[in-house]
Amino acid sequence: MGKARRKDKEGGESGASTDSKLYLEAAVLERKLPELDMKLLVELPAGLDYNEWLASHTMALFDHVNLVYGTISEFCTIIGCPDMTGPGQRMYLWFDEKGKKTRVAAPQYIDYVMTFTQKTISDETIFPTKYANEFPSSFESIVRKIVRLLFHVIAHLYAAHFKEVWLLGLHAHLNLTFTHLTALHNRFSLIESKETEVLRDLEIALHLCEDMNHESVSCISNVDMEGKENELRSSTDETGSEVKS
Ligand SMILES: [Zn+2]
Repeated sequence: MGKARRKDKEGGESGASTDSKLYLEAAVLERKLPELDMKLLVELPAGLDYNEWLASHTMALFDHVNLVYGTISEFCTIIGCPDMTGPGQRMYLWFDEKGKKTRVAAPQYIDYVMTFTQKTISDETIFPTKYANEFPSSFESIVRKIVRLLFHVIAHLYAAHFKEVWLLGLHAHLNLTFTHLTALHNRFSLIESKETEVLRDLEIALHLCEDMNHESVSCISNVDMEGKENELRSSTDETGSEVKS
């Protein structure tokens, strides 16, 4: 069923999922910082609180994703993007507050992501900024949820809007934001590989796998043709049940 539903004009057995991806072409693979800098950037400095570190990176990622999406949001419409898609026909369903899955258009989904994230990072009981206020015990799981949702937005930008991003000259910024999220995830294992697999080919193209010493083996080995069949299934996102907000 997987192959039949895929929109593949080439009709080839292999490589079908990569030959139409503009974001994998050499000319657009630039980003603003060399990879070594990014790896150092996410390394927890000695003496710094882990939660504090996660908080600052999460907020930076949110700002960058918000910025890039904001520039192309006029192209992301209910008609053009009736589903929240990622590469490889991945579709993301939103979990509402009661944990019920809902199929929503991409701009709606992304609005939920941005609203949820903004609200959460502004909440002093979750992202404390004042002295003596402490991080909640659920802080790390909340960060995981935010990073996963921001990853979905990045995945949608690559899958559905990379051409616009590129025409606006923002592809290096998007690649950098993706690199930042990937470096952070590789260092602290924040999201599951079933989530990140949709952009594994880009990780490889940007040389993020070989150069990150954490999980470098699994990073490569996850690229297999059997896995492609699973891309059609909806992402099983535990958003609603994992974190009660
Ligand atoms: Zn869209």
